[in-house]
Amino acid sequence: MGAMPKALDHRSLYRLPWSLSDNPIVWLEPTQACNLACDGCYRKNVRTHQPLAQVGADLNTFARLRNFDGVSIAGGDPLCHPEVVEIVRMVNCMGRKPILNTNGLELSRELLLELRQAGLVGITFHVDSRQGRPGWRDKTEAQMNELRSTFAEMVASVGGISCAFNSTVYEDTLSQVPDIVTWAAANIDKVHTVVFITYRAAALAGYDYYAGGRPVNMGEIVYSADTPRKLDISSRDVVATIQGRYPDFAPAAYLNGTEKPDSFKWLLALRVGSKQKIHGYFGPKFLEATQVGYHLMKGRYLAYAPSWLLGLGRAALIGSVWDPGGRAAAAAYLRNLAAAPRTLTDRLHLQAVMMIQPIDVLEDGRQNMCDGCPDMTLHEGRLAWSCRLEELRRFGTFVESVPKAASRLPMAAQ
Ligand code: SF4
Repeated sequence: MGAMPKALDHRSLYRLPWSLSDNPIVWLEPTQACNLACDGCYRKNVRTHQPLAQVGADLNTFARLRNFDGVSIAGGDPLCHPEVVEIVRMVNCMGRKPILNTNGLELSRELLLELRQAGLVGITFHVDSRQGRPGWRDKTEAQMNELRSTFAEMVASVGGISCAFNSTVYEDTLSQVPDIVTWAAANIDKVHTVVFITYRAAALAGYDYYAGGRPVNMGEIVYSADTPRKLDISSRDVVATIQGRYPDFAPAAYLNGTEKPDSFKWLLALRVGSKQKIHGYFGPKFLEATQVGYHLMKGRYLAYAPSWLLGLGRAALIGSVWDPGGRAAAAAYLRNLAAAPRTLTDRLHLQAVMMIQPIDVLEDGRQNMCDGCPDMTLHEGRLAWSCRLEELRRFGTFVESVPKAASRLPMAAQ
């Protein structure tokens, strides 16, 4: 616990350098099939898988359009694809990092070993209390931590794979976010990243929707909401909730919105600590050095740092005294060491905490997207926001939202 949290000002944080053409990741969807029906899902569940030839063609198109470091292999759930191991191998063979985005339902230790042999670098589990998982219904996020631990331990037992967890944040689960942050800190040796994605859906009341100038029924799209729900939880809300328990929680880097430069569409905090204690948060300069340094060395922006690198917390502290955040964390570590010398043998690790705030529909109907969206997928050979792919599939173009003139707007600008 430290001083009162400072208000977040984007001008004092590091704007991640990611752009349309040069970005750490791309979003590959080899399947539309899924074995769960999560509340906040963006994809219509269809039992179709891409043949490997199509996957290869998509990878080549990505390589033509974007300089990238890693491939998020998503869906649907990619473990539903019968040739997921081969897909991981294909990404690895093209010299990029394969990262699986899965709910983990189909995962076994044997399959994970196969995936690692095929070159898997990272795995991101989507786990939250609103997925309707068999055996996990009506649980709190704190109770879901037991399932998170099962996955984290499985990944750690295989070794060499970076482990991340995604959770969608709803109005009634926002207050439980610190329970996940606490759990992640206690598992910092196994969990490298936690991501909080604020719930979004297109409000059917309040807006009319148009595709290419013609009115369309947005209710046909899976991510629409016909009942009043809170659709504007922001990254700032998530940070404020975390700071309610951990006042020193300090994000350092961000992606802004395409319409609002001071909105935090992606907001990144990087902390350092042992399983017993978080010592502090790296600052904007450290984040800048990692992105720029990696780009200088490898010619790409960094997606997933290898798991062994994230275990070098002490070296990161020593090497970052020029970063005010790193300096403060190093000082806190030394103070702790002086008070408890036995902690000298405790290994220090790095852990990223990311907040993602998807589309905001502003009061005048403008759509505030992530500027430099990493999660771009393909539609008919072109890059497209993966969170809105269903609009392209159904209407052939992204929809425009127009406020209903006489309506009270339920989806306020953030
Ligand atoms: S624009 Fe959509 S797909 Fe892209 S990063 Fe934001 S939420 Fe994800």
